[in-house]
Amino acid sequence: MNRFGYYKARDTGDAVAAAAAHAARAQFIAGGTNVVDYMKLDVLQPDRLVDINVLAKDVHGRIDVTSEGLHLGALVRMAEAQDHPDIKRDYPVIAESLMLAASQQIRNMASLGGNILQKTRCQYFRETSWPCNKRQPGSGCSALEGINREHAVLGTSPACIATYHGDFAQALIALDAIVSTAGPNGNRQIPFGQLHRLPGDTPEVETVLEPGELITSIDVPAGPHTRRSHYLKIRDRQSYQFAVASVAVALDLDGDRVRDVRLALGGVATVPWRSGEAEAVIRGNILDERLAAKAAEAAFAGAEPRQYNKFKVPAGKAAIVRALLEAKAMRI
Ligand SMILES: Cc1cc2nc3c(=O)[nH]c(=O)nc-3n(C[C@H](O)[C@H](O)[C@H](O)COP(=O)(O)OP(=O)(O)OC[C@H]3O[C@@H](n4cnc5c(N)ncnc54)[C@H](O)[C@@H]3O)c2cc1C
Ligand code: SF4
Repeated sequence: MNRFGYYKARDTGDAVAAAAAHAARAQFIAGGTNVVDYMKLDVLQPDRLVDINVLAKDVHGRIDVTSEGLHLGALVRMAEAQDHPDIKRDYPVIAESLMLAASQQIRNMASLGGNILQKTRCQYFRETSWPCNKRQPGSGCSALEGINREHAVLGTSPACIATYHGDFAQALIALDAIVSTAGPNGNRQIPFGQLHRLPGDTPEVETVLEPGELITSIDVPAGPHTRRSHYLKIRDRQSYQFAVASVAVALDLDGDRVRDVRLALGGVATVPWRSGEAEAVIRGNILDERLAAKAAEAAFAGAEPRQYNKFKVPAGKAAIVRALLEAKAMRI
């Protein structure tokens, strides 16, 4: 681990200024469950850690559920949001995506903002002796011809096939969440679907955030689809494990007919992945197993599996079918 400075921010402006002064060499620390892990591995080598936890006492730590939607401060802990009765009732996909992530101990520490921005678990990214374009631009991608069982089949590029591993983000992209930020150039709002960047030929640039830009909150608009929403996660073991494939789905039904649908995939793509292709198949039609299977085919039509992750395509398709039928069967 390199030597680094630790700074405890006093307020939002102070946090942004403290981080911006060190540009890309600064990291915010919230729960620390990701950033400290990667510092110990020497994957991240910040000059300065800016501790933002004091901001949790302010609006950054608030949960509000109104008729307009759900407002989540970026420093709300995962466990707090997962257990919130209004979120469980009105936005179950959000509560489930959090509850199925990591362990209870980690969820007690980890913040929502930190969860969204967690780094990939690609083993070649985590082990610094391997070439990795994301960690060291231009060095190559060890996963392309390596052990790529955990890697992505959607949104990949010749430079990087690392999976985006978070769960919560799939629920947010499905529900058209908006991220609010405070940065050196002021405040802004970013549609969740535009926050993460496809790897392309610059996999080291993971989001559209500028150095020193702080996520302050996340807003999820209310809608007729949010109550009938569900997160299904397939993993190698049933707890404390990242997704092999996961599905966030939200349905607005008129009897068996689908008025509106939102569908996102996790564990199979390089970024949180909204499947407009699957949604187009389902919207306006009678939802049954046949239609769900057709939607699953559409979702993976563009998949580019590698040697060891071919199984993710049938696993992902099966997850879509199950998630849709389970959401349809929900009693709300
Ligand atoms: C063993 C293990 C298993 C796990 N399993 C899962 C899983 O199954 N599913 C899942 O989704 N996650 C899983 N995780 C990841 C875990 O959920 C994340 O580590 C956690 O959510 C990160 O939150 P944090 O507050 O600790 O972030 P930190 O470690 O504090 O920060 C993470 C990153 O976000 C940045 N950051 C933090 N807050 C902000 C902010 N407000 N604005 C801008 N930047 C910010 C930091 O600078 C850093 O780069 C697992 C982690 C471990 C260690
Ligand atoms: S998949 Fe991405 S993160 Fe993994 S080794 Fe290749 S470039 Fe690095």
